[in-house]
Amino acid sequence: MRIEYTDVLVVGGGLAGLRTAVGAARRRLRVEVLSLVPAKRSHSVAAQGGMQASLGNAFKGMGDNEDVHFGDTVRGSDWGCDQLVARMFAHMAPKAVRELAAWGVPWNRVQRGAHEAVIDGERVTLTERDEAHGLITARDFGGTRKWRTCYTADGTGHTMLYALGDRAVAEGIPVRDRSEAVALIHDGGRCQGAVVRDLETGELYAILAAATVIATGGFGRIWGISTNAIINEGMGAAIALETGVARLGNMEAVQFHPTAIVPAGILVTEGCRGDGGLLRDVDGHRFMPDYEPEKAELASRDVVSRRMAEHMRRGKGVKSAAGEHLWLDIAVLGAAHIDHKLREVKDICRHFLGIDPARDWIPVRPTQHYSMGGIRTDHRGESPALRGLFAVGEAACWDLHGFNRLGGNSLAETVVAGMLVGEYVADFVESHAGALQFSPGLAREFVGRERAALEAITARPAPAPGADNVASLRRGMEATMTEHVGLFRNEAGLRTAVATLVDLHARAQRVGIASRHLDANPELVAAYRLPRMLALALCAAQGALERRESRGAHAREDYPARNDRDWLRRTLAWWPVGAATPVLEYEPIRVESMELPPGFRGYGTRNIVEHPATALREAELESIRARLEGAGGAPLQAALLDFRARLPERYRGDNERIADIEEGAPR
Ligand SMILES: Cc1cc2nc3c(=O)[nH]c(=O)nc-3n(C[C@H](O)[C@H](O)[C@H](O)COP(=O)(O)OP(=O)(O)OC[C@H]3O[C@@H](n4cnc5c(N)ncnc54)[C@H](O)[C@@H]3O)c2cc1C
Repeated sequence: MRIEYTDVLVVGGGLAGLRTAVGAARRRLRVEVLSLVPAKRSHSVAAQGGMQASLGNAFKGMGDNEDVHFGDTVRGSDWGCDQLVARMFAHMAPKAVRELAAWGVPWNRVQRGAHEAVIDGERVTLTERDEAHGLITARDFGGTRKWRTCYTADGTGHTMLYALGDRAVAEGIPVRDRSEAVALIHDGGRCQGAVVRDLETGELYAILAAATVIATGGFGRIWGISTNAIINEGMGAAIALETGVARLGNMEAVQFHPTAIVPAGILVTEGCRGDGGLLRDVDGHRFMPDYEPEKAELASRDVVSRRMAEHMRRGKGVKSAAGEHLWLDIAVLGAAHIDHKLREVKDICRHFLGIDPARDWIPVRPTQHYSMGGIRTDHRGESPALRGLFAVGEAACWDLHGFNRLGGNSLAETVVAGMLVGEYVADFVESHAGALQFSPGLAREFVGRERAALEAITARPAPAPGADNVASLRRGMEATMTEHVGLFRNEAGLRTAVATLVDLHARAQRVGIASRHLDANPELVAAYRLPRMLALALCAAQGALERRESRGAHAREDYPARNDRDWLRRTLAWWPVGAATPVLEYEPIRVESMELPPGFRGYGTRNIVEHPATALREAELESIRARLEGAGGAPLQAALLDFRARLPERYRGDNERIADIEEGAPR
């Protein structure tokens, strides 16, 4: 049996995995990256809209800085995020964009002088500053107070992932594709690597590593219709859950994107609305300002998705053979804008709908899109429960996004978290590697266990006609998640969901397959992944059932208030070995250490049960501000929330902006 050794094993070749790998390799560690598919075909490649960073170059971004980005992120999260993480993130995002520029990402740039834009349905003229000419520009996206979403037309994820893929090659990092991590090797306290399955030959082997990083993306495919790629089945989170030790955070926090095309579920970017696109109903009426006078189409995604569903419930949807939908009108932007900045959207409309969005409205409806939940980590990306296990990107619950992530914050998270976790992993390996005794015996035991599990599947009789098969059980899971664990949730529906999923989970562990060979075999792959997907589905459904409040994307019709008094806490799910359901615990989110205490988001419904400590914390922050007024930004920030000390030293420096240079501020 093959056992390999490395310093850092990165499971996942998307943006988060590759950037973490580059960071660790630059610290002279041996790094291996695994991916199901060629790394440049990871789901990150599909991101169209852009990446948030407070550069402040574009006219509509003037005055932007880390404070504004931090505030937008916390409000967007509905106060569910970790504010330390949000601070670290907002500080790092400009550095990440600039690093990517240096690695060749062809960011769209500011062009001096006047240009036309559509804002709130009106065509307006904006004038860009001479001194900003040639710098990285930004679009309106994610309900932010300033325009800060940097983009490369509507192929942002594509250009970013290609730049990072090339960077990994330049750094000499081996990326093994068609290689799946199927189990984590651990002794209950320390992760020692993973069991890997070669998807072509079927070979099972072990990679023992001083640190293992899960960067496997989201788990959107447990819903029937999702904007996610078909490889987004959440296997990284599932194998972490299967350790019986690592915890998953806020699995009930799932984002539904307002504008996926009907019926395919392919996303058309929020950049469409950011650039001025409008949502219309069956009568062609622009309805969002009726619900959200301030932000209209640009309120946060959870809010826009719910308003759309509400409007359809009022009978204002468009009935079609493919189901009910609303319209997205980007024809208002004009053909030239679409040709230059929304080309991919045009292609999607042409190829999958047979329409021209410069002329026709696009049929859209809210669809599963982003997994805020994932493997719970501390601010350094390490699982507090299983040492040596790290997680990064959409697979993680670092927790930047709380209960709703802002458009453009996810691409930024992948690279920012990758930059940081690459360093923290290297620190961990340098300081602990000597103490780690690799255990080849343990590796053999884990590989043996996986081999026995696969052989058991292939030994079962092929399913009889009409009996359970992998596809029918999977459809059952997808239908349950769509019907009961969607945009609006309630007690009865969630109870039904949990009971159905428990049953499906048991049946999925008995199901046989028709193609019973152990090498390249898609049916076998589907069979061993299905119970794991069902385990994640159960964490999401049970988490949603127990959380009796509405926060961000988690909307309980029977508990419409955001309840800060009882629910300002993070759900942690873990799965005792052999159990039929996950166990839920809760981690408090402390108002006492918040820089921005809970309040109204500025959009959506104002329905909040206050936390008793909120007023106290507000008063405390006021007195800190009064005391340190005039002491300058750094001491004040340190007293409010000292994030700089947690950052690797090389990233602590201030971000420079043209506004500072103009004002002659010290550089
Ligand atoms: C259609 C779409 C558009 C989006 N647009 C935007 C946007 O404009 N702005 C924004 O900020 N965000 C956007 N997002 C979100 C963002 O793109 C993702 O959150 C982000 O790219 C995830 O990156 P990642 O590196 O965490 O995971 P991924 O890019 O999904 O990579 C996961 C990797 O893990 C590998 N993998 C999975 N399981 C295993 C396993 N068991 N063993 C080995 N390898 C494994 C896969 O092969 C892959 O390489 C969009 C998302 C979608 C769905």
